[in-house]
Amino acid sequence: MDERLTGGLVHEYLVCPRAAWYSYRHIRFENELLLLGKMLHEKSYKREVKNIFGESISLDFARREDGTLYIYEVKKSRAMLYAAKMQLIFYLRWLKERGVEAHGRIAVPTEKYVEEVRLTEKYEEEIERIGREVIEAVEKSKPPKAKGRKICKKCSYHDFCWV
Ligand code: SF4
Repeated sequence: MDERLTGGLVHEYLVCPRAAWYSYRHIRFENELLLLGKMLHEKSYKREVKNIFGESISLDFARREDGTLYIYEVKKSRAMLYAAKMQLIFYLRWLKERGVEAHGRIAVPTEKYVEEVRLTEKYEEEIERIGREVIEAVEKSKPPKAKGRKICKKCSYHDFCWV
């Protein structure tokens, strides 16, 4: 995988390519929703070791069960499940490239939802394709056009796009 990629960037791109373009340039704002997300991470799974950071990864937490390593991605809701899944696939692929076998779980504590995610051949091809798309989009000199969507109202870049 391209070393410029991160799991967070993959997630942002799949939610909104314009947001990924800003984030790639380290233009970041915190709004109430982002702070709520951080609080949720702190309050959920209290006994786990959380926020494991690496070169391109930022795992919410990891847990070993019956000899299998599971890495978790904790989200506020199921609204952007595909983006969360591909973020997790990115991490699983990144770990595999370094000789670490793991499975993933997406957890939405507020909805008591947990989904198991495994790195299949199909997902590996998909993350390769998405990774190429992400780099192509974020390396452009101008951001992708803003597309008015429901999520824009809650987005921390709202004023950059719409004011
Ligand atoms: S306000 Fe909308 S278009 Fe702009 S970055 Fe956020 S989600 Fe994307």
